[in-house]
Order: sequence, then structure tokens, then C-alpha cells
Amino acid sequence: MFPAMFETYIATKKDFDTIKEALKYLNKKELDFIFSERKLLKNTALVTYDSKFMYIIQQGGAVEKIEHNTKILDDDHLGWRASVTIEALKGKLTNTNLTYISGPFPTPFIELHKKKRTSPYTSKESYMATIIHEFGHVYYENVKNSWFSDYNRNVNILETVVDLYEGKSNKLKDLIIKLPESYIETEIFAFCTDYTATSLFWPEYKKVLDVNYLRSTKKYLKIERENKSTLEESVLDDPHIASVAIGKILIEKYGNKWVDILLVMDRVVS
Ligand SMILES: [Zn+2]
Repeated sequence: MFPAMFETYIATKKDFDTIKEALKYLNKKELDFIFSERKLLKNTALVTYDSKFMYIIQQGGAVEKIEHNTKILDDDHLGWRASVTIEALKGKLTNTNLTYISGPFPTPFIELHKKKRTSPYTSKESYMATIIHEFGHVYYENVKNSWFSDYNRNVNILETVVDLYEGKSNKLKDLIIKLPESYIETEIFAFCTDYTATSLFWPEYKKVLDVNYLRSTKKYLKIERENKSTLEESVLDDPHIASVAIGKILIEKYGNKWVDILLVMDRVVS
């Protein structure tokens, strides 16, 4: 075990600047084909933390600083999530109109990943891609949630099905089909989002990532082969492994259409 490195860490201006820079990349027009309805990201704020304070950062740049009186572990500095997982911080969020992604500042994130032998997350670019990845989850989940929660859409679906069983198909062409949220699909969507941003903005980091993904995919292929005789499940049942595999295939096979393949079936077909 390494001794904890960031138990007394206080964020610097450079840390905040990197988060601002990540948000600038998030809003670049090159990503408009992914986030075609940018309003779905509008109500998402970032929650980050150092040893003393949590910071709620709005996409417009406003920062609210709140003392948290809780112990932040080195493990809490390893990644971002599309939610707030540290309970003590979650309890301090009062604005119910916002959704939150949360994670560490770049300095502890990068320094702690440098201690891991094979982690690709050792650069500013890798950190920014991680934040963009979480916005991929937010976007996917906002599109997909409507499937079950939209009364009019659901009635429309069922009326169309009644028609179909009665041998009529007049409502079919106006029906937009989205499949419900899936925990593997959201990971594939987030992977494709950050991999696309990385390809477009950070070619050097993409090389690092590709070396890493090649190595991990070879490892999982080996495990899959070894497991053949003993197990029914596949390594691809793990959403992170599936995202690296299936996401790569979708991007290489369909180009920018991976967005539509994951979000709206009809647009792909027509
Ligand atoms: Zn993810």
C-alpha cells in the first residue's frame, strides 16, 4: 500500500482551469453530431472536491464552495461518475433542478494514475476526456429515460401495435422507436463519446489509449478462451469491457452514425 497522497490536498487555479477547458471542449461544434439536443446537458453541474471543500461548478463557470468535513480518500480521486457517490457531499446538494456528475480534480487524478503501471489516465487530456465521458452518460440517460416516462409516447406505441395486429400500418411511419435504457449501452455511448472527442482533439492521447485498449482486449480474449469450458458468461457481460469492444466496432463500421444506432433506430434505417 502506498501512503495516502492527497489527504490534505487543496485545489489550485490550474485544477479549476483544466475543468473549464474540459467544458470548452464539451461545447465544441465538432461534438454537435453527438449532442444534437444540447439542452439535454444544460441542467448538469459538476461536483468536485479536495480535502476540505466541495465545489459545485456550473457549466457557465459559476463556482460554489462548501466546506465538507469528510475524509476524501485517494480512491475517491481515481475517476468521475455520472452521479454523486460520496454520501457526505450528496447531502449538501440542495438544488433539485440540477443533475450532477462528480469526481476529483486533475492533479490528484493524474498523479494517482501515474502510480498504476498500466493506466492511460496520466495526462490532462485523459482527465478532460473522462469528464466528457460522463456527459455522454448524462446525454444517453436523458434521451432514453423518456421511453418509459412519456405517457403520450407510450399510448402512441400501443395504439400503433393495436393497428398492426388488426392488419393496419398507417401510423407506423411516424413512430420513432427508441429502445429502453441499458447499462451496457450507456457505457458504449459514453465510450464512443470520449473516444470520439479524443480522436478529434487529442491525437497523442489517442495513441496511448489505443495501446492500452489493444493490451486489455488481448487479455480479455485470452480469458474468454480460457473460460470457454467452465463458464457460461462472457467477458463482454462487463459493461466496461463491452464498451471498449463494441464501441470501437460501431465507430469503425458506421462512422458518426454510431450515435443514431444507439439512440434512435429509425434514423439509421432510413
Ligand atoms: Zn462510463
